[in-house]
Amino acid sequence: MSNIVTRFPPSPTGHLHIGGARTALFNWLYARCNQGKFILRIEDTDTERSTREMTDSILEAMDWLGLDWDEGPYFQSERLAFYQEQIEALLESGLAYYCGCTPEEVEAMRKEAWEKGEKPKYNGRCRDLGLGPGPGRVVRLKAPLDGQTVFQDLIKGINAVDNRELDDFILRRADNTPTYNLAVVVDDALMGVTCILRGDDHISNTPKQVMLYQALGFALPDFGHVPMILGPDKKRLSKRHGAMSVLEYREQGYLPEALINYLVRLGWSHGDQELFSREELVDKFSLKNLGKSACIFNPEKLDWVNSQHIKSKQPAELAGPLVLRLQNRGLSGLDRGYAEKIVPLLQPRVKTLEQLAEQAVFFVLPDQDLNYDREMLETCFTPEIKGYLQELLAELNGLEDFSRGGLEQLLGEFLKEKGIKFKLLAQPIRIALSGKKASPGLFETMEVLGRERVLNRLGRVLEMLDA
Ligand code: GLU
Repeated sequence: MSNIVTRFPPSPTGHLHIGGARTALFNWLYARCNQGKFILRIEDTDTERSTREMTDSILEAMDWLGLDWDEGPYFQSERLAFYQEQIEALLESGLAYYCGCTPEEVEAMRKEAWEKGEKPKYNGRCRDLGLGPGPGRVVRLKAPLDGQTVFQDLIKGINAVDNRELDDFILRRADNTPTYNLAVVVDDALMGVTCILRGDDHISNTPKQVMLYQALGFALPDFGHVPMILGPDKKRLSKRHGAMSVLEYREQGYLPEALINYLVRLGWSHGDQELFSREELVDKFSLKNLGKSACIFNPEKLDWVNSQHIKSKQPAELAGPLVLRLQNRGLSGLDRGYAEKIVPLLQPRVKTLEQLAEQAVFFVLPDQDLNYDREMLETCFTPEIKGYLQELLAELNGLEDFSRGGLEQLLGEFLKEKGIKFKLLAQPIRIALSGKKASPGLFETMEVLGRERVLNRLGRVLEMLDA
C-alpha cells in the first residue's frame, strides 16, 4: 500500500447524482491506481437535511458502481468530540475567539463593506474583545489580516487569495455544531487524507481550509478541483438535462461499468480512447490527464457507451438481469437457458437493459397473449401470402433440422419452387412471430423461438385472418 489516501464525503441530503459519482470515481481511481486507501465519510452534521434514507441510498449507489472503500463509512455526527477538541485547542492558543454579534449585526457589517465597494464580510468586531462562551456566541477563526493564502491546485495550477478578502469565518455555530470547513479539515487531517479531488464549486472554500490547516498545525493535502459537469446548454447540470441519480440509471438499465466509463471521460482522457474496462482504468488513470475545461453531459454518448458495454458481455452475464426485468413486467418463470439464447440476438440492437427486456417480450409472451394490429395483419397477409404460409407451415412442421441453417435452406428451396422473393414472405412471418415490424434476423429468431412457438404463432395468425 502506498501512502496515498483519498476520500469521498457526501452529505446525505439527496441521492448520489452524476456529479458526486464522478468525484467519488476520481478519488477511488486515484487511490486504486496507487494501491492507496479510499475513505468514505458521510457528512451528516446538518441534522435537519440529512436522512438515514439518503445515506442508505448513497451507500447502495456506491456499492452498485463498485466503488468500494477501505475505511468507513464514518459519520460526522458521531465525531463531534474531535471537532470540539480542535476548536478548544484553537481557542486556547488564541487562534480562535468567541463572537457575540447577532446575525443581524453581521448582515449590517456585510452590507456596509459592500457599499464601500469591498467584499461583504464580518468586520472583526469581537476579535480582540476576549469574550468567553455564552448564549448566542459563535467561535470564529482569527484569520491572518494581510498576506496571501496560496495553494497549488493539481488541475488549475497556483491559486492565491488576498487575505484581506477573507474574514474571520465561523468554526462553531451558536448551537455548538461545527461548520463544514472546520469539520472537513479536522476529519481530512485526522484521517490522513493526502489528496482531495472535488468539484470546483468548492474552490472558494479551499483558502479557508488552508488557513485552518495552518492554524491547526496539520500538513496540507493536495487539492484538485475538477470542472463542474454542465448540460448541453452550458448551464449547471440539473434534472431537466436528465441528470438523474445513479440509482435511477440502474433502474433504466445502464450497466455500472458503462456509467463508470462514461463518467471518467467527463474530465479525464487517455489519448482518444473512449471505451475502458474498470481494470484498464485502474491501470491507466493518472491525475495529469484531468482536464481544465468544463465537461458537457451528453445523454446520447452515455447511451452509446452503454450499448458498447452491453455488446461486450457474455450472454450468460445478461441472462440473469433479463429474467429479472421481465419478471418486473409480469413475465415470470422464464427459463435461464432460454434467456441466454435470446440475449445474443438483441445485444447488438439495444442501448439499455430496459430495451433488452422490452425487445425480449415477444420471445417470452405465451403465444395466445401476443397482440396484433388487425390493420397491419390485413394489409400484410394477402390471400396469396396466406396460401404460401399454409404450405410453409406444413413444411416447417416436418423440418428435421430446426436451426437457422436448416430454416434458411428450407425457405430457400420453398421460394425457388414457388418462384417468389424472400421479401414477400419475410415481413408477414416476422409480424406473425413477433407482432412487430422489426425484430432480429428472421432465421435466428425462428431458431430461438423453436418449432412449437413458430407453428403456433403462424397458425394463430392464419386462423385470426380467417375468422
Ligand atoms: N460534504 C461536502 C459535499 O458533499 C464535501 C465537500 C468536500 O469534498 O470537501 O459537497
